[in-house]
Amino acid sequence: MPAPQCASCHKARAALRRPRSGQALCGTCFCAAFEAEVLHTVVAGRLLPPGAVVAVGASGGKDSTVLAHVLRELAPRLGISLRLVAVDEGIGGYRDAALAAVRRQAARWELPLTVVAYADLFGGWTMDAVARSTAGSGRSRSCCTFCGVLRRRALEEGARFVGATHVVTGHNADDMAETVLMNFLRGDAGRLARGGGLGSPGEGGALPRCRPLQLASQKEVVLYAHFRRLDYFSEECVYAPEAFRGHARDLLKLLEAARPSAVLDLVHSAERLALAPAARPPPPGACTRCGALASRALCQACALLDGLNRGRPRLAIGKGRRGLDEEGPPREREPEQEPERERSGRPASEPVPAF
Ligand code: SF4
Ligand code: ZN
Repeated sequence: MPAPQCASCHKARAALRRPRSGQALCGTCFCAAFEAEVLHTVVAGRLLPPGAVVAVGASGGKDSTVLAHVLRELAPRLGISLRLVAVDEGIGGYRDAALAAVRRQAARWELPLTVVAYADLFGGWTMDAVARSTAGSGRSRSCCTFCGVLRRRALEEGARFVGATHVVTGHNADDMAETVLMNFLRGDAGRLARGGGLGSPGEGGALPRCRPLQLASQKEVVLYAHFRRLDYFSEECVYAPEAFRGHARDLLKLLEAARPSAVLDLVHSAERLALAPAARPPPPGACTRCGALASRALCQACALLDGLNRGRPRLAIGKGRRGLDEEGPPREREPEQEPERERSGRPASEPVPAF
């Protein structure tokens, strides 16, 4: 059966059906609609004001690649300027190839790129060293927890270094739904209540952060990358398979098969959650070491580093810090249904169009 006409331009043949609406569109109209929706998210949420210097957390993966590309398209209309900030966690055989993809993107799109390394920021600690230190400690499956806390800090430092006023990350709707599920499964009410919205306004002196792709489904992010022929890196980090997030991801796929709106329903449910007064955690104070927001004497990053430096990583993430355990990577672990890609970036096999 021939593909129907594009429901938007009524000229070209449709190349896909939008996963949620079922609307048949050609590639050009789909990309235009995707960009318009991100623009609406940014403008309606007042996420990036005119004049903002925006640090894009660039990992070389599909989400941050799509985010950087879309924001570059929208930058003149939004009146913002972009900087790419990549974090080198020090993961042998993985991050170097991903950083190579970021460097290609920066060169192609003529965007300034800054790379910040854990080893430089955190007294020589790399993720590989953290993994060795935690091996056999009972925390060896929590590499992503350490990494997530340190990466947040590193991205903040990199953004400040390049003079950014705002930080954006590429979390999509599926990532956010997984996080909501994980927080439910852990019974972490505090994180559930904080997890709603499109970002954080920059409490405690931190730069404002937002997630312009938070309402975009992972499938559409992949389709956008396909139709725009974006070069990205999609190998899985060596530490990803152990993460708790993988279980939430599997569960979400099952839920979505039974109820296609499950992803967005979960994202919106987090926006509407409110904690009973008795369940609210005390307001955070400032870390006694670095001044960042902290619910205890030390912020999460300083507590993790403190434990590592003392050779007792269990000190850093334990029962007292419920919710930190096994955070898992929101994006480095690529979904199984994505097109395979070579390290060089071009797709080894394209996503199968709906027609
Ligand atoms: Fe860090 Fe992501 Fe690797 Fe986990 S999967 S260790 S969060 S880079
Ligand atoms: Zn601190």
